Amino acid sequence: MPQPLAAKMTNAGSSARMFASTVVTLGCAFIVLMAAGVAVVTALTREANRLEAQRQAERIEAAVNGQIRLSELRLEGLMSTNDLADALQQPQQMPALQATLKRLRSQLLDFDGVHIVSMSGSVVASIENMVPTAQGQSEGQRHLNAFLSGAKSPTVSVVIGDEALPQTGPTRTMVLNDSGETLLLTAIDLSRIMPIDVSSMRDQLSLIAYRHISASMLSELAERYRVADIRLVSSFPTDPSSVLALRAPDGTIGAWLTWSPARPGDAMLHRFLWALILVALLFSGIFVFVVQRLRAAAEQIELRERQIQRLAGQDELSLLPNRRSFDLTLDQSLADLAQSGAALAVVLIDLDRFKAVNDTYGHTAGDELIRQVASRLSGALQPGDTVARLGGDEFGIIRTHLPTQAGCAALGEHILACLTEPFIVMDVEVTIGCSIGIAMAPRDATNRETLLKLADTALYEAKNGGRNRYSFFEPQMNRSLQLKRMVEDDLRRAIENDELTLHYQPQVSVDGSTIVGVEALVRWPHPEHGMIPPSDFIAIAEERGLIVPLSEWVLRRACTEAKRWEGVRLAVNVSPIQFRHKDFVANVIRIIQETDFDPTRLELELTEGVLIEDADAAEAAMMDIRAHGVGLALDDFGTGYSSLIYLRRFAFDKIKIDRSFLEYMEATGESAILVHSMAHLGRALGLRVCAEGVETAEQHRFLQAIGCHELQGFLFSRGVPAEQIDRLLSVDNPFSEVLSAA
Ligand code: C2E
Ligand code: MG
Ligand code: MG
Repeated sequence: MPQPLAAKMTNAGSSARMFASTVVTLGCAFIVLMAAGVAVVTALTREANRLEAQRQAERIEAAVNGQIRLSELRLEGLMSTNDLADALQQPQQMPALQATLKRLRSQLLDFDGVHIVSMSGSVVASIENMVPTAQGQSEGQRHLNAFLSGAKSPTVSVVIGDEALPQTGPTRTMVLNDSGETLLLTAIDLSRIMPIDVSSMRDQLSLIAYRHISASMLSELAERYRVADIRLVSSFPTDPSSVLALRAPDGTIGAWLTWSPARPGDAMLHRFLWALILVALLFSGIFVFVVQRLRAAAEQIELRERQIQRLAGQDELSLLPNRRSFDLTLDQSLADLAQSGAALAVVLIDLDRFKAVNDTYGHTAGDELIRQVASRLSGALQPGDTVARLGGDEFGIIRTHLPTQAGCAALGEHILACLTEPFIVMDVEVTIGCSIGIAMAPRDATNRETLLKLADTALYEAKNGGRNRYSFFEPQMNRSLQLKRMVEDDLRRAIENDELTLHYQPQVSVDGSTIVGVEALVRWPHPEHGMIPPSDFIAIAEERGLIVPLSEWVLRRACTEAKRWEGVRLAVNVSPIQFRHKDFVANVIRIIQETDFDPTRLELELTEGVLIEDADAAEAAMMDIRAHGVGLALDDFGTGYSSLIYLRRFAFDKIKIDRSFLEYMEATGESAILVHSMAHLGRALGLRVCAEGVETAEQHRFLQAIGCHELQGFLFSRGVPAEQIDRLLSVDNPFSEVLSAA
C-alpha cells in the first residue's frame, strides 16, 4: 500500500501556504527596510542639522569670547604705552592722564566707554562715550557706576541690581544684562600691565572698558556665521540648539544669544527627496517583481506536487488514497489472499444527492462535503481497512481483516448511519445519502477487475432498489444488470430501426371454442441476448422517455397486422405514463385512422396505475376514448389498488383477473374464493370478465363454472407471431385437441 509514501507527501496547497508565508516575510522585510531607510534618512538629517547648529553655536561663542579677548588685548596694548605709564607715575597729574585718554580716544573707538577707577570706587579718569538717558545718566554709565561703587580693595565687587558679586583676580571680563541691554565689560587691574610700583600708589587702579552688544555686532555675526534671526533675549528660548548663554563672572546667566540655526540636513533632504522617492519606488517595483516570480514558482511547485501526489497515490481533495492506490492495494491484498487462503471484501460507496449539493451551493461546498465524507468514512473503519476516494462522489473500502457477511453488513449499516447524518457545509445543513455495493473474494471473484465490477453491480442494485441501502453481490444480478444496461443503450435504436416485433396471445370464449380476441405483446428479438420480454424493457422505456414512441409503434403495428382478423378484438396494453401524456387520445385516434382500423375492435388494457394519480384527467381521457368506440379493459385486476369505487366510477368494458390468483388457486382455497368473488363482482357490474394465466384444465373448468366470459392462458396458446394467429383462425375450434387431451 503506497499510503506511507502518500503520507510523506506534502499536502497539496502546502506550496501555496509557503508562498503566502514567504510573501508575508518578504512584505515584512520590505516594510522594515523602508522604515529603516526612512529612520536612517531622518536620523542623518537630524544629525546634520544638530552638528551644524552645534558648530554654529561654538563659533558664535568663540566669536563672543574673542571679542572680549580682543578687548583685553587692546586695552593691554593701550595701557602699556609710555604715555600712560608716565602719567601714572604722578597720580596728582590726573588731568594730564585724562587728557591722554582723550587723546587715545580715537584708538578706543571700539568701546562704548573706558574708565580708570580706584579701588576706593572713585573714577580716576574716563572717556564718556555714552549718550545720557532721560534720567541724566546713560545706561552704560549707570552700570559702570554700580560696578565701581561696589569695588573694594583688593577685590572688585560687581553689583547687578541688588546683588553684589565678589570679584577676584586682576582681570575681569563679564557680560551684564539689565533692562534689556547687554554690555560686554572688560576690567583690567592696571598693575598687571603697567610697569609701576603699586605700593607707591595710594590706591590700586583698574581700567574698565565696556561695549554694548549692538545690532550691528549681531548682524556682523549673522553674516559671518550664516545664521538668521540672531538676537538677545532675557528668557530661555524654545530651541536649545541655537542658544548661547551669556554669563556674569559668577556663572549666572545674564542673557541668551539666540538665532535660527542653519538646517543643512533639511536642505539636503529637500534636494534629494525625489531621489529617495525614486529609490523607494524602485524597491517597491523589485518587491512586486519578486512576489510575482515567487507566485509563478509556487504555482509550478503546486502543480508538480499534485502530479507527485497523484503518482504517489493520494487524492488531493480528500487526502485519502486515490483510485490508483486503491487498485494497487487491492492487487496486493488479492495476491496475499491467494497464499493465505483468507478472504477480503470490497465495499463501493456512491453518494446520493451529491450533485444537488454541488449545483445548489457551489463547488467549494461540494469539495468541503467530500472532505467531511472522507473524514466520517475514515472514522468508520477498523484497523487494517483501507478507504480511498475513487473519483467524483465514489469511495471504496477494502477489508482484509476477517471479513464475514455479517461483519460487512454491519459495516454497510454503519456507513449508512454515518453518511445519512446531516452535514454542516459552509454554515448550511445538508443531507445526503449513499448506496453501497459489496463483493467478496474469493467467494465472488479473485481478480481485481471482476471483483470491482461485481461490487459495482451490487451498488447498481442498491441504487435501483431505492438508494440508502447496501447490497451484496449475487450472481443473478449480473445478467439482469447487463441486460438493463444494454437495454438502456440500445432501445431507442431498436424502436427507430423497427427491430421490435409483436406476438399475439389469443383470448378465447369460455368454452374454449372460439378466439374472440388477441392481446398484442411486444417482444425484442436481440441478436445477442435472444428474445427479450417486455418486463425487461417497458419500465426502462418509461424511465428514458421512450414509452410514447414505443407504444405508438406497437399500436400501429398491431392495427396493421390485426386488420385482417375480422371479427376478432385487438387488445393493446397501455402504460400509465403513456396514458397520462396529453396527446394520448389524439395519438390513438390518429393511428387508428392512419391504419384504417375499426375502433370498435380495439380494446385498450389499462392498469389501475393510470387511475390513481389524477383521477379526473383519467376519467376525461377514458370518456373521450370510449366516445370514439374504443373499448377499455382493466388489466391485472386485483393486484393494485382495485376498489369498487374504481369499477363504479370508470367506464370499463371488461376486467382481467390477474394470473397470480390462478397460480395460487390450487394451493390455497382463499385464491379460489377471491377469483370467484371477482368474477361475480364483474358480472354484477355488467362487465365482461376475463381470466388471465389459464394453464390447466382444472382452472378452465373452475373459471367456466364461476361464469367468466373469456379466458387467456398457456392452456390455449402463448403469445405467438401473427402468422400463427392466421393459422389458428383458419380452423374451427382450434383448441379442441388441447382441451380433449386435458
Ligand atoms: P399483461 O398485459 O398482463 O400480459 C399478459 C402477460 O401474461 C404476458 O406476458 C403473457 O405472456 C403472460 N401470460 C399469459 N398467459 C399466461 C399463462 O398462462 N401463464 C403465465 N405464466 N403467463 C401468461 P408478457 O408478454 O411477458 O408481458 C408482460 C407484461 O408486459 C404484460 O402483462 C403487459 O403489462 C406488458 N406489456 C406487454 N406488451 C406491452 C406493450 O406493448 N405495451 C405495454 N405498455 N405493456 C406491454
Ligand atoms: Mg395485458
Ligand atoms: Mg395482465
